[in-house]
Amino acid sequence: MLAYIRILLLFFSVGSLSLSLSIGSYVLLLDFLGKCYHGLCLFSLDFMESYYGIRDADISEYKGCEFNWACETCSKALCITLVAVAELPSEYGSFMILGFANNKDHKDHIAVVKGDIYGAEDVLTRLHSACLTGDALGSRRCDCGPQLHTAMRMIESEGMGVLLYMQQEGRGIGLVNKIKAYQLQDQGFDTYDANLHLGFEPDARDYEVSAAMLRKLGVKSVRLLTNNPDKLDQLALYGVEITERVQLELPVHGDDEAYMRTKKERFGHKLDLVDDSSI
Ligand SMILES: [Zn+2]
Repeated sequence: MLAYIRILLLFFSVGSLSLSLSIGSYVLLLDFLGKCYHGLCLFSLDFMESYYGIRDADISEYKGCEFNWACETCSKALCITLVAVAELPSEYGSFMILGFANNKDHKDHIAVVKGDIYGAEDVLTRLHSACLTGDALGSRRCDCGPQLHTAMRMIESEGMGVLLYMQQEGRGIGLVNKIKAYQLQDQGFDTYDANLHLGFEPDARDYEVSAAMLRKLGVKSVRLLTNNPDKLDQLALYGVEITERVQLELPVHGDDEAYMRTKKERFGHKLDLVDDSSI
């Protein structure tokens, strides 16, 4: 009889343990699902809480800004504020998108983030300068659109990385001036001389804000997707640790061959210029 009671107690104990584990798993599952937003589950968004925290702290500081957020009158050397964090499901993968404000160029720069990059090293990183014609209109005058989308696919494939989309159209001269430069290129100038002819530097971009954004994102070191040595030099100058340069080169074709050759020969970009007339 005692043996029966012992067996019953054993079954009861095992049953209770299973029930506890089941309830525990269920609670964990509910907790996990609670962190997935709007049906778009990115497996774990815990890491994003750090960015929501930074955003809230930055916005709080913004409310108390002694310059009333009139950035052009701000005497601080460089003030980068994370003002918005949201999801970005895209054709190239599922990302988070972060919006920044700053008192240096006053432009709307963004970061597209994949995975837990806060405090991470060797983060696959792309600094992409906005190119409306290439990124959105499919222009074949340059390689910007394919570079942008290839970078997003690479970051998605790696499961972790960041793309900074910087409002530096036309290497920093602006959209309409870039079209003026196109006009000159149609008359025989190359992209380098066209910018000079318009009174600009051949490349007017500065990456101090980009470096500050990477610091705000908590990135410790980067593997930079670029063919442009100036990006490497400037980021290093602004204190970003670069552990590797990752080539981001697409095949050239008839429409961008001259432009790509100018990039290599006059801007010093590291390009192989592999021709593919089928594209
Ligand atoms: Zn472009």
